[in-house]
Amino acid sequence: MKYQDLFDGLTSRGISPSEILDGSRLDEELTRDEALTGERVRPIALVSPRTSDDVVRIVQFAQENTIAITARGSGTGMCGGCVASSDSIILSFSKMNEIVEIDTENQTATVQPGVTLHQLDEALEPFGLVYPIFPGELSASIGGNVATNAGGMRAIKYGVTRNQVLGLEVVLANGTKLKTGGKFVKCSSGYDLTQLIIGSEGTLGLVTEIIVKLYPRPKFTATVLAPFETLDQITNAVPKIVSSGADPLILEYIDAIAIVATTQNVGLDLGIAQEIQDKALAYLLIVIEGDNESRIDEDIEGLAALVDELGAMDIYILPPSTSAKLIDAREKAFWVAKAHGANDILDIVVPRSKLPEYMNSVSSIAQATQSWIAGCGHVGDGNVHLSIFQNDSDRLHQAMEQVLSCGIALGGAVSAEHGIGREKRAYFLELEDPNKIELMRSIKTAFDPKGLLNPGAIF
Ligand SMILES: Cc1cc2nc3c(=O)[nH]c(=O)nc-3n(C[C@H](O)[C@H](O)[C@H](O)COP(=O)(O)OP(=O)(O)OC[C@H]3O[C@@H](n4cnc5c(N)ncnc54)[C@H](O)[C@@H]3O)c2cc1C
Repeated sequence: MKYQDLFDGLTSRGISPSEILDGSRLDEELTRDEALTGERVRPIALVSPRTSDDVVRIVQFAQENTIAITARGSGTGMCGGCVASSDSIILSFSKMNEIVEIDTENQTATVQPGVTLHQLDEALEPFGLVYPIFPGELSASIGGNVATNAGGMRAIKYGVTRNQVLGLEVVLANGTKLKTGGKFVKCSSGYDLTQLIIGSEGTLGLVTEIIVKLYPRPKFTATVLAPFETLDQITNAVPKIVSSGADPLILEYIDAIAIVATTQNVGLDLGIAQEIQDKALAYLLIVIEGDNESRIDEDIEGLAALVDELGAMDIYILPPSTSAKLIDAREKAFWVAKAHGANDILDIVVPRSKLPEYMNSVSSIAQATQSWIAGCGHVGDGNVHLSIFQNDSDRLHQAMEQVLSCGIALGGAVSAEHGIGREKRAYFLELEDPNKIELMRSIKTAFDPKGLLNPGAIF
């Protein structure tokens, strides 16, 4: 369909002309996400509804005219999930960005999908509440988080998006609007449609409202940074720290290359002696939180002693401002890897106990494929982010495939939190259990028989 016909069709159904942009005139940044691979694609149009009824009207028009729709939140995704094909509509949720309600009695927030994490966090602070999902990019939308089941550093304590969403409003491919779940935790009433939609990357329905759980906002945090001489020591230490009852908010590993690159990037000096920097292969970053300052000081001392026993070369208890800067620098690790020419990035997950074996295999794969693989990651929950540097496309594919299949063989999965999108689809389809893929395809067909919602993503 041509842009003008689409414009006429949508405006005749009450969509405001100001909500429709010609795909050929879009800013480049709206034609891609943050995946390191993949093409920029211009859709027929980008449409930015303001209400869920607008979404229904757009979906009905698309159904009648067999036009595909790809949802877009903030475009911070890492796998080409919101990149549409040239004959489709991008449905941007940027104008559906209202916090509908903060319910302090039920400790829930109800938000439109375009609300960003940063926006919700600012709104919750005065209430002493927090929504605890903090993936590395706070400009991400909550709708995008739901669609990708976003995780982030605090997943070790609070879980991922699917652990925090209580209910959804969804517009299905046939234009039906329905609500799933609600402001309650318990529900044993048929299939859990909320959980089915979470992580479905816009392929089953368009999320138009979200109810999330809130928590009291802890007043204090304390941080330990510990360099280790071997990665084995780190990966062996992780299960022991988790089972110690220390209840870390953050438990990250940052390899020696990544820590130098990320701290230099923001001009942060951690005061680590040069001889330690020369010998350390990787660092463990542990943050705890609480409301009682003296108790948290005691707890961090206890944690430091444990990390020392587990073989750390040295222990640094970081002041809050340095800790905040280091966490910020770690969150920017992706941009540093990108600036240094990383060719792909992956976010595989393996059981925590398999990390030593997994990371040893990754080193061997790097050598065998003559690639350079740098990493940091949410090691507390077995999720490692690996940046792969390999300019030769065959070797890159070889390295990616081996790193992923080795993780799956250890009981892991292709993506922990970024999703499959278009860019990890080939690996997913090749390496996942075909029976699971077949079942997923039939679920997709039941929701979207014509295959109009985000075709090309996942499958
Ligand atoms: C520097 C950096 C660090 C990051 N760190 C993390 C991290 O630690 N953990 C993590 O999980 N992710 C991380 N990410 C990835 C990214 O922020 C998340 O995937 C996020 O959830 C994407 O949200 P978005 O609004 O940008 O979605 P988009 O990129 O716009 O879209 C993502 C997917 O969601 C679908 N979608 C969007 N909105 C809707 C909707 N309302 N209904 C249905 N489908 C929808 C899209 O079609 C697409 O498939 C990081 C990204 C960057 C750039």
